[in-house]
Amino acid sequence: MEAITTAGTFFDGISARPRPVTLRLTFRLQILGEDVTRDWSLLDLRATDAASPVMRISHAQGAESVEFTDAAFAEALKARCPDLGRAEREGGLTRLVLWSIAAGVSVLLTAIYGVPAASNLIAPLVPRAIEAQLGRSVDTQIVSLLGDPPLCDEGAARAVLDRLAARLAEGMALPERPQVSVRRHTVANALALPGGRVILLSDIIAKARNGDELAGILAHEFGHVAARDPMRSVITAGGTSFLLSLVLGDLTGSTVLVTIGQAAISAGYSRDAERAADAYAVAAVKRAGGDGAALAAILERITKADDEKPDAIAFLRSHPFTAERAARIRSLAGEKPAGSGILSEAEWQSVQGICPKPTKPDDGKKAAPTEKL
Ligand SMILES: [Zn+2]
Repeated sequence: MEAITTAGTFFDGISARPRPVTLRLTFRLQILGEDVTRDWSLLDLRATDAASPVMRISHAQGAESVEFTDAAFAEALKARCPDLGRAEREGGLTRLVLWSIAAGVSVLLTAIYGVPAASNLIAPLVPRAIEAQLGRSVDTQIVSLLGDPPLCDEGAARAVLDRLAARLAEGMALPERPQVSVRRHTVANALALPGGRVILLSDIIAKARNGDELAGILAHEFGHVAARDPMRSVITAGGTSFLLSLVLGDLTGSTVLVTIGQAAISAGYSRDAERAADAYAVAAVKRAGGDGAALAAILERITKADDEKPDAIAFLRSHPFTAERAARIRSLAGEKPAGSGILSEAEWQSVQGICPKPTKPDDGKKAAPTEKL
């Protein structure tokens, strides 16, 4: 069979890191890159949602996927892969119909009870595929609202962060393995988005004094993912027009996304949601061998710094912090465990360098004044 090749991008489904690869299509699909080699059966390939001309192909088992834009390659793939358009789950169509009905009903519920109450009912019903698509759109939107901060992906640091995320997720109730990305930004913030996406802004890593504090922040966001709080807040922010666009399946072109992106940055979760995310974080950090109380320490420090920088899009605005929360975190955490913490000294040093040194002199000026604490 004639081999066709094209350039593409590989995603491992765990980190957000895009890896350039060559795609080679014969009777199998080979994915060849610097640190990735895959040989997928054509029966296992599934086309997933992507904005044209990008075609996104996922493996039926696992979270790995590739993207490319070559139209001729796409045609050849469609001709050779019988199950390319198959729904992942049995009864996919039934689910979709039920979802459409649920979404229609939810528009009514929203009209009757108001948006926040309805979003609690609706969030758990949103199919994962739709939530994942939404997460990608909101991610793009937020990155653009933040002024396109560069992705920080220094290799060794990225590996430490991935291992830390995996340890914090292990054994915890999560709807999916969170995908953590880091962006260079001078505001200390962390955001959980629909579809299990978590964005860390680099200043929050700069503000952390040790691995346990960083783990606490990360696990707190995982707590929001576990409770599907981002989906809830997106529904609340988008309101009925957003629900209608969900029903109609038009998400990427929706102007509602701008509102949602802004809300994801600035709107706060409820006090109950914050308490639950804290409790989740303490449990996850303790389970991984760290000090659960470190979360309280870093949040207190950011609260102080935030007072001096009132214009910042602060972590505190999206996760309102109080003395009562700090006390509760410390009481849940109990005694500080023996040992040096969740990361070794070498791992901690490494992860702090996740944002490579800026190349433009401008960036350097912006990055330099972050206060040393
Ligand atoms: Zn929070």
